[in-house]
Amino acid sequence: MKMICINCPRGCEMDVECEGGNITVSGNACARGEAYAKSEVVNPTRMVTGLVRIAGMRKPLPVKTRTAIPKAKIDAVLFAMHQATVQLPVKIGDVIIPDAAGTGVDVVATANM
Ligand code: SF4
Repeated sequence: MKMICINCPRGCEMDVECEGGNITVSGNACARGEAYAKSEVVNPTRMVTGLVRIAGMRKPLPVKTRTAIPKAKIDAVLFAMHQATVQLPVKIGDVIIPDAAGTGVDVVATANM
């Protein structure tokens, strides 16, 4: 399969072959591309951004997962963001939802409010 590495602006187009449990990658200009391709095949992950309700305000708080989470957990994390309400004040990096949806990854604030 073809895959574009998203780790830097060069955007290497890679060929990824999966055969008998072995994953071979070509077309990558550095090791980060191979690592990215293998993780996309075995356990694809994504950063998730969203908004969390602030008690007593109409404006929501922007948040994100601290690190990438498994793609299969994206809906559950978005639901946790939807269910959450935060009290001000909040600083960038504050944990808003610890261990979001059992991923082991915290959802953190991305704004000071
Ligand atoms: S393989 Fe390396 S050089 Fe190519 S896009 Fe990925 S990080 Fe950049």
